[in-house]
Amino acid sequence: MTPRLRFAPSPTGPLHLGGARTALYNWAAARAMGGQFLLRIEDTDRARSTDESLQIILEGLRWLGVDWDEGPETGGDHGPYFQSQRLDLYAKYAEKLLDTGWAYKCYATPEEVAEGRERLQAEGKRPMYDRRHRDITDEQRAELEAEGRKASLRFRMPLDEVRQLDDLSKGVVEVNLQELDDWVLMRPDGMPTYNFACVVDDHEMGITHVVRGEEHLMNGFKQLVLFGALGLEAPRYAHIPLILGKNGKKLSKRDAVTNILDYRDQGYLPEAIFNYIAMLGWGFSGDQDLFTAEEMVERFQIKDIGSGGAKFDDEKLAWMAGDYVRRTPIADLVDRARPWLEQTVPSEAFDTHRGLIENVVSCYQERVKILSELPEKVAFAFTTGTLELDADAQKKLKKQEDAPQWLSAYADLLEKSDLPPSYPHDRAAADAAVRLPSDPEKPVSDAPCMTPAEIEQQCRAFAGEHGIKFGQLVHPIRASLSGTTKGAGLFDLVFLLGRETCVARLRRFGA
Ligand code: GLU
Repeated sequence: MTPRLRFAPSPTGPLHLGGARTALYNWAAARAMGGQFLLRIEDTDRARSTDESLQIILEGLRWLGVDWDEGPETGGDHGPYFQSQRLDLYAKYAEKLLDTGWAYKCYATPEEVAEGRERLQAEGKRPMYDRRHRDITDEQRAELEAEGRKASLRFRMPLDEVRQLDDLSKGVVEVNLQELDDWVLMRPDGMPTYNFACVVDDHEMGITHVVRGEEHLMNGFKQLVLFGALGLEAPRYAHIPLILGKNGKKLSKRDAVTNILDYRDQGYLPEAIFNYIAMLGWGFSGDQDLFTAEEMVERFQIKDIGSGGAKFDDEKLAWMAGDYVRRTPIADLVDRARPWLEQTVPSEAFDTHRGLIENVVSCYQERVKILSELPEKVAFAFTTGTLELDADAQKKLKKQEDAPQWLSAYADLLEKSDLPPSYPHDRAAADAAVRLPSDPEKPVSDAPCMTPAEIEQQCRAFAGEHGIKFGQLVHPIRASLSGTTKGAGLFDLVFLLGRETCVARLRRFGA
């Protein structure tokens, strides 16, 4: 039998972390077993289901790289993939269950159901539907109908029977079915409940394995019994522990985003989020935390999902995000960061100054975790007007009384030096020859201008000639060139900015 797994979200809110992890594990299991992965939309709660949520869920899955073989947009042989379009099918199954006596009509109003629960509770029993219409006579039924009451359909749960569920994650779990009530299969308006529609669809869609959160464990028992009542084989279930917050408590809004797409909007790379979510409950091997989706698929087995609650740790996520940025080839990184970079880099520069952009970004590749950090960091290289200085940079400039003289003298030197031309002049040759961040040990000999290493040698010589301590020189230069005291190596900065810009910025604070 071909393994078939599914993700079955209700479009009543965004795709959150737990949902994304469920999708990812089912996807990885299907791919690992050479089976199919389906997407089924459980939209029978008409009041709370929205198209907006659906779109956010689909987009969230696409962003993570979780693709589906059958489902919305892709179609398939087992459709429709929206439960709201499968109502006739549920009605057919309901009919069958009524015929075989596994289902019965319950005419109790919500108030009566609540009152029954309270009574049971007062008697020290488990509060649940009190089964008041489980065994009524045809006459009683006719009377209730004559009152104009609408019936819901309830499942006749076996009483006092212990059932075992051989869970792929939890092992064998036992429940006395008496603890589960005669649950509603179909509401008076003809809408199926989750457990009912889920069983019908898991069967009709040929689902073989179901990975989902452990909050569904009791539903698993209900579904198992219903499968049996229908004479059908149930899929294998794996009910996996919830994701916990750092403090070991239930994950809250303070721990993590509630919509996976917020990570996209904050500038995280999707591979990093994929990797981090996959790791929340499943280990690749030993202590290796980083793995790609392909590597995961090669090894993934449902039974290896951990049985302890995984803790969400935003610091670890940030570390992982930074690692993915560092490992992305620079050309690819620039392409992917372009929507953010365009906040400070003119869009035409992506055609005319691609090399410069790559060089500037490469200087910050080690220093950012998310793409949205880049525009502010690279802005200095593309600012053609007056550069704004942050408070630290202003302080550094004021600290050294004779800084203006050195800055002027250094500007004179650079004016006569063979530096690359400044943006927006053409500087393609220089940027192509010198790849940054530069290694001062390895000057690029055929560069058509000075390399960062040569700029450094020249600057050291300049400091020596003027009897200035090198350390005292670099801070005011950096502040006047980049407007900050942190950032890329100083001689990479000089190289990136080129002659005209360096000279103008140094003179601005010169004597
Ligand atoms: N619609 C259910 C949910 O979102 C699906 C649970 C299941 O996988 O059976 O929780």
